[in-house]
Amino acid sequence: MLSVQKALESPLKEFAFNSSVKTSFDENTFKPNSVDEVAILSMNFHSDFDGVVHVKGFVDVPCRFVCDRCAGSFQKNLYFDFEEEICKKSQNSEDDDGFAYDDNGNVDIEEIVKNLIITNFPTKILCRPDCKGLCQTCGINLNDEECEHQKKKIGENNPFADLLNKLGGK
Ligand SMILES: [Zn+2]
Ligand SMILES: [Zn+2]
Repeated sequence: MLSVQKALESPLKEFAFNSSVKTSFDENTFKPNSVDEVAILSMNFHSDFDGVVHVKGFVDVPCRFVCDRCAGSFQKNLYFDFEEEICKKSQNSEDDDGFAYDDNGNVDIEEIVKNLIITNFPTKILCRPDCKGLCQTCGINLNDEECEHQKKKIGENNPFADLLNKLGGK
């Protein structure tokens, strides 16, 4: 829990909040990737005169990723900046994503961090930008090894293959 009460009482005054936040996700949420239980949250916030709390900061959380191309798993931190507004909770809000404070100025910070991680989780995951992936024929990891299928394929896909054949077959 985080209280934004003092911010509401002093509009425009800037407050800082730095904390490790424990989150827990359903194991299928990011499958086959997984997010560490403890995220680092660092943020500043202030209230405006209308009772809207403006939040700006970053989240940093260790993750275990599986590469989309080569299926290799690797450890990397998910880091992202965010900017959000937290409003007063409405009486009958069913879809509570955490971006609201209650009558006492309390915010469910776990819920907020959880939703931020879900929103900012990468959709394309590569172990490295130039990952070569797996050979479709024999399945070896082309980052580590080369196979005959790849060399052949490059030959077939060469746009000048026809021309080269013609020249060679003259
Ligand atoms: Zn890869
Ligand atoms: Zn191969």
